[in-house]
Amino acid sequence: MSEFDLIDRFFKKPASSAYLGIGDDAALLKPNKGCQLAISTDMMVAGTHFLMDCHPYLIGWKSLAVNISDMAAMGADPRWATLAIALPRKDEAWLEGFSNGFFDCAKRYHVELIGGDTTRGPLNICVQIIGEVPDGKALRRDGARAGDDIWVSGNLGDAALALSGLQGQLELDPEDLEVLRVRLEHPEPRVMLGSSLRDIATSAIDISDGLVADLGHILKASRAGGVVEFTNVPHSRTVSGYLQQDSVKEMVLSGGDDYELCFTASPGHRDAILAIAEKLALKLSRIGTVTDLGTLTILDSNQQAIPLGKAGFDHFA
Ligand code: ADP
Ligand code: MG
Repeated sequence: MSEFDLIDRFFKKPASSAYLGIGDDAALLKPNKGCQLAISTDMMVAGTHFLMDCHPYLIGWKSLAVNISDMAAMGADPRWATLAIALPRKDEAWLEGFSNGFFDCAKRYHVELIGGDTTRGPLNICVQIIGEVPDGKALRRDGARAGDDIWVSGNLGDAALALSGLQGQLELDPEDLEVLRVRLEHPEPRVMLGSSLRDIATSAIDISDGLVADLGHILKASRAGGVVEFTNVPHSRTVSGYLQQDSVKEMVLSGGDDYELCFTASPGHRDAILAIAEKLALKLSRIGTVTDLGTLTILDSNQQAIPLGKAGFDHFA
């Protein structure tokens, strides 16, 4: 099987939303009138972003899902993707699984693969995503204002707890691990939430590196601070079974890979936000308030500040 057979067999699918898709030197796109393009790239390296024994289907799903999550965080509709992949060898079973996971995610979120590059090398997957957002409506990090509410979707800490269970750092009940690892390996980017917040949120980010780090990015970009009540930070029932351990509390605050959205909005929009939660059947929790002091404080149930040690994942820390 040549490189070109491999591309034809595993990656070339009709892309009806592109003027020209896979097969030429470049794809041609026709953006919708009145829209800006939102473009982002995320790389996944074996051993760093996924465990080597992770099923290729899940690697395929996640490599696209984490990129789609960046579109959700911008309030953009994901539309097209490119895929640059380095493979150690032509492992057809692996490619089949990877391609199925990638295209299942693409179908679920209406994304089309329009190009890429295939080369031999240590396993490395680089996806670029291109989305559209109506002119001026993107959700940026720099729009939070003192007095805004701070909100979070879904639950935090599931993915980090799963990872520590898989790596043998924490002992988890095997049934709990099965529930939690779905959140780590099969994340569901909050695209509908992002687009629903276009006229409501003042800022947004997806939580890939942990709440403290990612909310910190919003506050820094907005030259603001924040106060968050730990008791309001949402976590799953599975996580609550382990929450007496300090390291698990830290996972809720600073664990990465949950791909929920954190956003800010004026208190006048509370009812509108709760209506979105109901419509999308997605939990949205109000966890704190933006302040004009330049720091982020997390308060425990006694209103004492929790020391923020490890502020999220940093590849070079
Ligand atoms: P070139 O040499 O001009 O860069 P390639 O031979 O690398 O072109 O690729 C041929 C076509 O296949 C191009 O349209 C490219 O976008 C597409 N392609 C290559 N690898 C992938 C991949 N992994 N996924 C999707 N499309 C791919
Ligand atoms: Mg090429």
